[in-house]
Amino acid sequence: MTAKLQKKIRSVDRIVSDSDCPPDVPLILRVAVPSPLRQTFDYLPPKDCVRTALIPGTRLRVPFGRTQTVGVLVELSTTSQVARARLKPALAALDDAALLPAELLALMQWAGAYYHHPLGEVILGALPPPLRQGKPPQAVRAPRKTTEIETAVSIAPPPLNADQQRAVAALSAALDAAQPFLLDGVTGSGKTEVYLSVIEQALARGAQALVLVPEIGLTPQLVQRFRERFSAPLAVMHSSLSDGERLRAWLAARDGTASIVLGTRSAVFAPLARPGVFIVDEEHDLSFKQQDGFRYHARDVAVMRARRANVPIILGSATPSLESLYNVQQGRYRRLVLASRAGASRAPVMRVLDVRRQTLDGGLSPMLLQGVARHLGEGGQALLFLNRRGYAPMLICHECGWVASCARCDARLVFYQTQRRLRCHHCAAERAADAQCPACGCVDLRTVGQGTERVEQHLARHFPHAGIVRIDRDSTRRKGSMQAMLDDVHAGRSQILIGTQMLAKGHHLPNVTLAAILDADQGLFGVDFRAAERMAQLIVQVAGRAGRAGKPGEVLIQTHHPDHPLLRTLITQGYGAFAATALEERALSELPPYSYLALLRAEAVKAEAPLDFLRAAHAQAPAAHAVQLFGPVAAPMERRAGRYRAQLLVQAPQRAALHRFLTAWLPELEALKLARKVRWSLDVDPMEMI
Ligand code: ADP
Ligand code: ZN
Ligand code: ZN
Repeated sequence: MTAKLQKKIRSVDRIVSDSDCPPDVPLILRVAVPSPLRQTFDYLPPKDCVRTALIPGTRLRVPFGRTQTVGVLVELSTTSQVARARLKPALAALDDAALLPAELLALMQWAGAYYHHPLGEVILGALPPPLRQGKPPQAVRAPRKTTEIETAVSIAPPPLNADQQRAVAALSAALDAAQPFLLDGVTGSGKTEVYLSVIEQALARGAQALVLVPEIGLTPQLVQRFRERFSAPLAVMHSSLSDGERLRAWLAARDGTASIVLGTRSAVFAPLARPGVFIVDEEHDLSFKQQDGFRYHARDVAVMRARRANVPIILGSATPSLESLYNVQQGRYRRLVLASRAGASRAPVMRVLDVRRQTLDGGLSPMLLQGVARHLGEGGQALLFLNRRGYAPMLICHECGWVASCARCDARLVFYQTQRRLRCHHCAAERAADAQCPACGCVDLRTVGQGTERVEQHLARHFPHAGIVRIDRDSTRRKGSMQAMLDDVHAGRSQILIGTQMLAKGHHLPNVTLAAILDADQGLFGVDFRAAERMAQLIVQVAGRAGRAGKPGEVLIQTHHPDHPLLRTLITQGYGAFAATALEERALSELPPYSYLALLRAEAVKAEAPLDFLRAAHAQAPAAHAVQLFGPVAAPMERRAGRYRAQLLVQAPQRAALHRFLTAWLPELEALKLARKVRWSLDVDPMEMI
């Protein structure tokens, strides 16, 4: 918002706070409504207007098209582009005080502008459904115990080690500063203890803490630690809350009843009465980026929010994103290092297993099987990681070569043996597995490759007396099933865990002494320029599960490319050295963080429509110095769920240049006739190039 505009609003505020509405004041209400149009809408005050109700951040019921909707007042003005006679009055003011704190409303305006997303969708999308529907901002019932707002007994923290003390001292000294920190600490180094100490200090000053985590369902232990530590009320916000629970947590955050707000991505837009410190745990995690609709990155929004609120933010990770490390290099973030594991545990030993020419049994090499046997024999547990669920990623006819493929996607169907079904992992398609080849009638259908289900079966054959749990999206669909499996591991009833990246996240499994990556090659040769970074992060995170208590840990990595330079650097010199090398490569190829990207995507049922639209979009691109367009090209998987997809990449050497370009370009895109034949979206700072 410009200073001029703010001044105007202040003067309008004065007009509005007069005792009643002089009819001659041409007061215009600028309202954000849930609409795909990138604009706000002007209204006149409601007929029976109570002027004190007309302040930014309140909701209004307004006529919209042939219906009516709930919108949020974002600005008051005395002028409008629309002729006064054509302006309609709002139907009713729904709040007599701002529903959204000014700080949050301004953040949302920034986010809408930065991601070039319609403001109404940004604001209304962040409200709990009852508020979006116009209901009053009151909780329906008093919060039940053991729901989303909790208090608990506090327990004594361990004495901090030297690294932790240094980090806490630096953070404490910055509680009044808009300073971002990167807390770069190996897994198990006690980052969470640092968060807890800093939060304690923020709470002592009467402020609130907002903590963002990747997925709460996957980190019940973290939530538990917060509950045990603080007697202050905690509001937990995540996607599986009911509407009522969400509203109560939201209101508790807004009125300050909740001292700590702990949530996933969308909690970055939680209202706060007294923001004091922001924390983003596992800041490198991809789940902070919303991949559809309003494509914001919660970490980046949190950094901006902290800066605007003039408070510190802590980005914590054992495997920081290259973006954050670059920000440290540039002096924008301060890096705090926790160099070693806290308490008694030591860093695990990493070993590469060269699987070339080895007999693989369900993807398991003899060396790996021996490793598992050794660790189990010594009373340890083993964790095996494979980022592919199902039994096998491919079902093929041995007679004619037919492959089971999805009818609606350019993808193979994944074979599930226990249910004898085929499933597409890209759309909802699912069917019974063929008993014979639909092309030639032959019954010799074979599976190629392995997923977690197959590995589980092979492990069961090799270790008939061991308890085995499989943790992936298929096995954890039922609520509580994940916790039940982890409980089995904790109690020692299960000794082997096989799973996807769900396993790599934050679990503290003290008796796991062996962690294994079954297929490191997947990441080394991915199409996305971030594939190697993701693989390195995964390897380190999986490795971080081994040897977390007193027992020494071992990490085994199966690969066909034991001499791959990035893999070697990672294994021999660690993540920091890997990241430095990877950053040099990014600089040479002018990729983020050394350039700024936006991806224009389009999809349609008709094969040619997306490319036609993107070609027209390319032709409309405003002349802009140093901004380059690449494409349009078909998406790596062109057809998904029956729709063809294509993309056009925009690259700029500076953020400002990118945004100037996008600001000029978007109205042209909206005006394109071909735009009506496709679904299109703009992804600013895309994290996945698909
Ligand atoms: P991170 O968040 O970096 O993975 P945690 O904070 O979860 O690390 O700490 C890992 C383990 O070490 C936890 O069991 C924690 O209780 C313990 N721990 C952390 N700090 C200390 C300390 N200073 N002394 C003893 N144990 C500690
Ligand atoms: Zn066949
Ligand atoms: Zn499909």
